[in-house]
This record gives sequence, structure tokens and C-alpha cells, in this order.
Amino acid sequence: MEPDPLRELERQVEAGGMFAHAVLAQEANRADQNEAIIRGLVELLIQREVVTAEELVAAVDAVRTETDIGIAIRVDKEGSEGVGNPVDCAARMHACHAVCCRLRFPLTVEEVESGLMKWDLGRPYFNRHGPDGYCVQCAPDTHACGIYEERPAPCRQYTCADDKRIWKDFDAMVINQEWIDEALGTGPGPVEVFMTAAEGDSRSRRA
Ligand code: SF4
Ligand code: SF4
Repeated sequence: MEPDPLRELERQVEAGGMFAHAVLAQEANRADQNEAIIRGLVELLIQREVVTAEELVAAVDAVRTETDIGIAIRVDKEGSEGVGNPVDCAARMHACHAVCCRLRFPLTVEEVESGLMKWDLGRPYFNRHGPDGYCVQCAPDTHACGIYEERPAPCRQYTCADDKRIWKDFDAMVINQEWIDEALGTGPGPVEVFMTAAEGDSRSRRA
């Protein structure tokens, strides 16, 4: 007898649902166990006066910002499309090295769908950076934008003229290296390293 495709589809969906529920139940169980262990440890540490409750709350808050893996999608307001105050980038490039292309921003659904701007798998849906810490559309040698005419609104609207994070003194071209080093880092993060390895691997498989 011919297998009934609808019955087979139903069976697959049912099996997929059961699998998802089983995994979720397992994870919930683990989370419960971990919570019990952490709560026990916290009680013990406070009882023995190793830490105070206030110190613990402060430590948790500090770590929470580091582990924040919020997902973001940008929604541009209608009519908000505009161009920021023009800056003579060519005259400043020797000092800024196009540091604006090391900033991160969330993409719109259209940008994600278009494929022009790759999104960072480790930080959905922010623009992806390469191992050099720059947006993947930024040419490593010239720092020219590979999609200049179609660059996203944050790139069109951005101006560094009044951005104190970038310039200590805009007119004298004194760069804010401390903020840049602290906020943007100097080397590739684990996600960039992973993405580069994965892209190299897929390139070699396509060749
Ligand atoms: S940091 Fe400012 S001057 Fe430098 S490339 Fe970006 S917008 Fe131009
Ligand atoms: S899209 Fe172009 S302008 Fe925007 S961050 Fe990337 S390289 Fe820079």
C-alpha cells in the first residue's frame, strides 16, 4: 500500500514536537538543579560572612551586562532617512582609521534579508565584524565601504563631528584612543574567529 504523505507529515510533526518538548523538559530540569546549587552556595557564603548580600547583587549586576545576549532588530522611523553632518573623512583617515566602521548597530529585517550586510551569528542581528574588528563591508587596505551607495541608515546618518567617544578634540584631530581600546577592543572576539574559520572552510569546499 502507498504511504499516505499527509499521515507521514503528521507523524514527522508529532515526532518533532515530542523531541522539542523532551529537550525543553531536560533543560528545565538542569536549570532547576543549577538554581538549587547556586542558592545553596549563596546562602552558605552569606551565612559564613564571606560576602554580603549587597556585594553579591553588585557582582551579579556587573556580570549580567557582560552576558547580555539580547537580540535586536532595527526599525527605522518613516522619514528618518537623512545624512549626518558631512565630515572630510579623507583628511582624517590617518588619525581615525575609519573607526566608525568598528561600531556595531542592529540591522533591519530588509537588510538581513538582502544579504548585503551580514549579521553576526553571535549577536543577532548586529552588523558582522571581521577578525580585524571592522564591519565586513569595510575594505581592509583602503577602509572604503563595499556597499557605499546602499549602506544602512546608521552609516548614512552617522557623523563623528560631535562624537566624544571618537574624538577628544575634533578640530585638532585628537582621537579618543582610550575609549576605542576599551570599548572596541584590539583583537578578534571568539565569534569573529569562528566566522572566519567557517567562511574559509566553506570557501575551500566551494572551490
Ligand atoms: S571616524 Fe569620522 S572621519 Fe573617520 S571615517 Fe568615520 S566618519 Fe569619517
Ligand atoms: S556598511 Fe559601510 S559604512 Fe557602514 S559600517 Fe560597514 S563599511 Fe562602514
